[in-house]
Amino acid sequence: MSVQEAYGRKDTRMLLQDTMQSSGDVIDPAAWLRETDIVSYDFPYAANLIAESFADWRGLAVPPFAESWDWGLLDFEGKWIEPLDSGAGSIREEGWDAQWAEAAGLSLLSGEASAAPEQKNGQAVYLLTLPVFTRAQREIFALLACSMTAVEYEQGGKNTAEAMAMHFQTCFYRRFEHVFVSDLAGVYQHAERESIRRSLLFQIVQRMHDNIDVDAVLTEVIESIAAMYPGARLELFMSQDHRSTHPQVKPLPLLWDSDDVCARAFKDGRVALHAGREDSQHVEVGLPLGGKQGVYGVFHMIMDKPVFSEVDLRFLSMVADTAGTAFENAKLYERSNQLIRELRMSNEMTQRLNQSLRLGDIFQYAFEELLEMFAADYCCILHMNEEKGGLEAIACNHLPLRNELIEVGQGLGGNVYTTGEPIILSDYLNTPGPSSKLMDATCSQSLIATPLNVGGEVRGAIMLAHREPYFFSYDSFRLLQAMAGHIGLAVGNARLHAEVRFLANRDSLTGLYARHYLDEEIKERQTTDFCGSLIVVDIDQFKTVNDTYGHQKGDKILKQVSEIVKSSIRQGDIAARWGGEELAVYLPQLGVQQAFYVAERIRKRVMGETEPRVTVSCGIAEWSWTDERVSVESLFYRADMALYEAKNNGRNQVVIDTKKVDSTAKNPLA
Ligand code: GH3
Ligand code: MG
Ligand code: MG
Repeated sequence: MSVQEAYGRKDTRMLLQDTMQSSGDVIDPAAWLRETDIVSYDFPYAANLIAESFADWRGLAVPPFAESWDWGLLDFEGKWIEPLDSGAGSIREEGWDAQWAEAAGLSLLSGEASAAPEQKNGQAVYLLTLPVFTRAQREIFALLACSMTAVEYEQGGKNTAEAMAMHFQTCFYRRFEHVFVSDLAGVYQHAERESIRRSLLFQIVQRMHDNIDVDAVLTEVIESIAAMYPGARLELFMSQDHRSTHPQVKPLPLLWDSDDVCARAFKDGRVALHAGREDSQHVEVGLPLGGKQGVYGVFHMIMDKPVFSEVDLRFLSMVADTAGTAFENAKLYERSNQLIRELRMSNEMTQRLNQSLRLGDIFQYAFEELLEMFAADYCCILHMNEEKGGLEAIACNHLPLRNELIEVGQGLGGNVYTTGEPIILSDYLNTPGPSSKLMDATCSQSLIATPLNVGGEVRGAIMLAHREPYFFSYDSFRLLQAMAGHIGLAVGNARLHAEVRFLANRDSLTGLYARHYLDEEIKERQTTDFCGSLIVVDIDQFKTVNDTYGHQKGDKILKQVSEIVKSSIRQGDIAARWGGEELAVYLPQLGVQQAFYVAERIRKRVMGETEPRVTVSCGIAEWSWTDERVSVESLFYRADMALYEAKNNGRNQVVIDTKKVDSTAKNPLA
């Protein structure tokens, strides 16, 4: 029986608090107990305790002389709590209620034992009511009722009964104190546990909020709970990609029974309890780890049943709430740091990428930056090479793979290119799907890869690999995609730039270089080279060709001649449209004699390959570093003079500028 049941008005803790408030903070339990008593206010609630004390008292040995007396118990208002004993030798009589009430009323009024003489079966009997007093205020909290024969009454029965009533009072106080003392111990124990918990909770809260590191928060909460419940089995399931070094932190299982405590806690965001069957020794708890923005994970605890109480549950959910908030704060902090870092890195990267407009430089910069930014073991950038018909590993720090050609759609990189979808792999070996040369060759386990979009078109793929499994986070995966966007832009710019440069230096009809480009190139070469030759090629009677076949046909022939010129020269030679139907070829480091052969080749091919057939005349001039004055203009002038001579001599021939060459170096074919 608890104090509350027995005593009703207040529980012991409240009484203790009352006493503490009235008597200062320090209390002496013994003094407190001595002074504690029931007062009239408590009487309506004390009936159970009084009845139990009565049973105690009746269980004790009764003087032989009083053995045949009947006893009963009345409350502070004279109402029966325990009616008079019945049984063998009982002198209880039905219909004596009025007599008992009168006796009780008298006793309550006078505060003394009252005796009413009655007749039973012709025998004189006495009905006695004996007040039982509280020990401090001496208020009547109960009345004992006793019946005895007149003879017994007169032979000292009354005094004996009064003594027995005093003994009953003692029995009552014995029980009263017992209840208080045992509850007092409970209160102390409880208070101590509460205070330990409170201080622990305070420490946990403080430490957790001191931690701005996500992993530290998780470690803290696991260790705090483990310290509180040493016998408990504890694990923490975290959603998303919360990588933790703590062995008790695990990823949230994907498949859960719907009535699993963890599933329930995660879904409802509330503490979930599973006590198991009656005979089960354990209780299972799921505590959601949540903040304002959602639930991040679930603590799973299994512990012994007797250890666990309602208070534990409250405590644990407070810890979980605190952990959830601390975790969220740390996560937000981490996230904002991450964003700042990403911004800085993307800024650095774009700055670096924009330093050059050359494609090769851009890929090299991107490759270096990515390796560092993601702390990856390997980086491989694949770029579509139309000429070679595949994806070229344009930058790769696994050297055997550099410049390797990968078929479109082959392997992971080829897949990313064809699907245009990024991929993240945490455990390559155990993931079904296409194999990857990069992953196999480098024994890597983790991969993030993204397509390289240039001007809205997939032009390649970027792959980052690490030998450790689960190395890249989802954030890294996202960041790589953002970076690929920057790289794509830079690549696009470089391509545009190259295209513009190409177009600016080309003649649109023939695809040959423009005159200004040739001028600049020769000028440049004249500062570094020893010598060089210029061939001027002019189509014979082109006006007539135009007149005969029309201008469009004329254009076609001009293109044919240009193609012949292009395919008749070395890689380093420069063929340009000099103007109209006149073309020019500059041959670096070549003298006129060698240039003559080239011109002849062109002349013969034009004659043989054009349709309708045309012929060309060529003039050749050379410069050498020994010349007095070296200039582009004079070179052209002299070549033009030679051409003029060729025309005059009847066309379809090659003439070398004679002003420059000495008499021994005449036209070798002349
Ligand atoms: P030759 O050089 O043999 O002395 O005679 P020609 O008729 O070729 O010389 P001319 O300089 O008198 O005429 C050049 C002609 O080339 C004039 C023009 O109609 C033609 N021509 C120049 N540029 C183009 C062009 O881009 N397309 C076409 N179809 N014709 C062109
Ligand atoms: Mg001409
Ligand atoms: Mg001409």
